[in-house]
Amino acid sequence: MPNFPLDKSRAFQVRANQALGGGVGHDLRYADPVPLYITHGRGSRKWDVDGNEYVDFLMGNAALLLGHADPAVVAAIEQAVGDGTHFGNDHPRHIDWAELVCRLVPSAERVRFVNSGTEATLLALRLARAFTSRQKVMRFAGHFHGWHDDVVHGFEMPFDRPVTLGVSGNEKREMVTLPDSDDQAIQSELASGEYAAVIVEVTGASWGRAPLPEGLLELLREETREHGSVLIFDEVIAGFRFSPGGVQQLSGITPDLTCLAKILAGGMPGGAVAGAADIMRLFDKTGDAEHDRYGRVVHFGTFNASPLSAAAGIATLEQLADGLPIKQANEQAATMRAEIEVLLQKHDVAGFVYGEASLFHVYFETDPRRRSDIGSAADVPTDEPSRLKGMPSALVNRYQQLLRHAGVDLMSGTGGALGSCHTAEDIQQATTAFDSVILTLLEEGLIHQIG
Ligand code: PMP
Repeated sequence: MPNFPLDKSRAFQVRANQALGGGVGHDLRYADPVPLYITHGRGSRKWDVDGNEYVDFLMGNAALLLGHADPAVVAAIEQAVGDGTHFGNDHPRHIDWAELVCRLVPSAERVRFVNSGTEATLLALRLARAFTSRQKVMRFAGHFHGWHDDVVHGFEMPFDRPVTLGVSGNEKREMVTLPDSDDQAIQSELASGEYAAVIVEVTGASWGRAPLPEGLLELLREETREHGSVLIFDEVIAGFRFSPGGVQQLSGITPDLTCLAKILAGGMPGGAVAGAADIMRLFDKTGDAEHDRYGRVVHFGTFNASPLSAAAGIATLEQLADGLPIKQANEQAATMRAEIEVLLQKHDVAGFVYGEASLFHVYFETDPRRRSDIGSAADVPTDEPSRLKGMPSALVNRYQQLLRHAGVDLMSGTGGALGSCHTAEDIQQATTAFDSVILTLLEEGLIHQIG
């Protein structure tokens, strides 16, 4: 690629392949020909070790809404660092953070902090099982809830095949994966009265790549209430992004438990389970020896509610509480989606752009059988999760690579997340990059025109 030096990145890659298991720190950081080694970021931009500048639509895996190095967040962290990085005791910022979450998130009567979204879903399932004295959990094909053993399978195509080695498979007896469109199966399974919980990614599978069927959240709320199961909203992505109170605030549907992470901790490691007081009291000690030893949910974690995470979280949540940064991010994302749609139409591409709030996704139809049925742009959209999450990896990798080398970094798949930091200039630059990338992909035969 002209004007896209990678010499220093390649040198880091050699060292990384030697020193790091897998050569990277997260499976989504693999990239061809080299992973990004980022030195710093400001607002919507970040720079790699070779000095290449990116318009950033990864936004810290959607953990950032205000952008990189937001001044108030940095100042809050600096203040907290000076006070001491870690005590192992509770501290005032912990309580302030908890109160803020309870104020913003409708289901949050009480909150318990953990260190990631994965820990949040792990703890939520434990709470639900303890509360109901049941073991089974319903989850949906394609939905992502982190990497612990109970939830790691079922999110990647083909949904019924294992995702990783090293998981016993015993969890399959208790984790039931259904299509989120199968109302009848959902209803009849829940009617068995065997389910501790239903966990659902409220954006739709994989931060909205496969949107939720209309009415699903209402259905789940009604059925779980009727059959005594705990309804868990995974708002790890949606929380503080779709609205200050997440999807539950927008939809008016209140779950029993909510999993939070990402924006919650303002770009620092952090997560939480929040929820109804009658469930959250399972953590409480009463002083009764029998109860305290056998009647509780146990939860440890050296770095739970770390002072630095609390400081960054508070500084972030306070800024977005009035909804303004969210509105700005949503407006920029709407422009971004519209601009990409214009490009797809200009090049007559068999593809469409979609996404909610500050997220966008692009789908390219590559299935020859389906393409032959497509007469116009209106025929392209699909809501089938197996298609939306099943684009050929060669296409997705090449698309990401071309965009990166045109100065645009995406999230997983073909989409990205915006923040209040994104400007009209960012959208303009990204649109120009998309234009050239679409042309290259057409030339290379990886995407196709309608007809
Ligand atoms: N749930 C959802 C919906 C997520 O998007 C993620 C992370 N992408 C997780 C859970 C896991 O969070 P973490 O990476 O912090 O463990």
